[in-house]
Amino acid sequence: MDKYYSSDQISRFESLKSRWNLKTKVGPEENRCIIVRRVSRAKSMRVFNPFFSYYEDNTYRKELPVLYPYQIGFLCEKGFLPTGFNLSHTCALQNKSKKSKEGLKCVVASHMVVETSGINRSRERCFTAIRKNIANARKRKRFQTWTYSLCNHDPVCFINTGAL
Ligand SMILES: [Zn+2]
Ligand SMILES: [Zn+2]
Repeated sequence: MDKYYSSDQISRFESLKSRWNLKTKVGPEENRCIIVRRVSRAKSMRVFNPFFSYYEDNTYRKELPVLYPYQIGFLCEKGFLPTGFNLSHTCALQNKSKKSKEGLKCVVASHMVVETSGINRSRERCFTAIRKNIANARKRKRFQTWTYSLCNHDPVCFINTGAL
């Protein structure tokens, strides 16, 4: 049972994007990641879901009390958030950050996919391999999308380099 939102609700979520202040764009233009690094008045990157109490009694829905930027990025494009499945990233950051590792993710909806948490976790192996390839690469372009030859995920895992 996915969590669908009305167009009025989505415009409210759209307005929360004004609190994203420090964005990095990474990778080739046609496939660029947008990383939100700071959310104003939100220490842990998360903001209160304005519709949490509205849906609180709907037990099937499991409405989320707080939302990360990537969840808002996804729902504004797709109109829903998954319930019982993971909102998984096909892209990752080149450098794993120690602090706020959950929130520091790409907000581009087309770089996210709904899948099981098991598949989600298995992508980490690809990301680790890609990070190693990037570190060992002799040549690199200014902007580049890196993939892993043994990745069999659909859509494939990738890491972008070259920050704007
Ligand atoms: Zn991305
Ligand atoms: Zn993969």
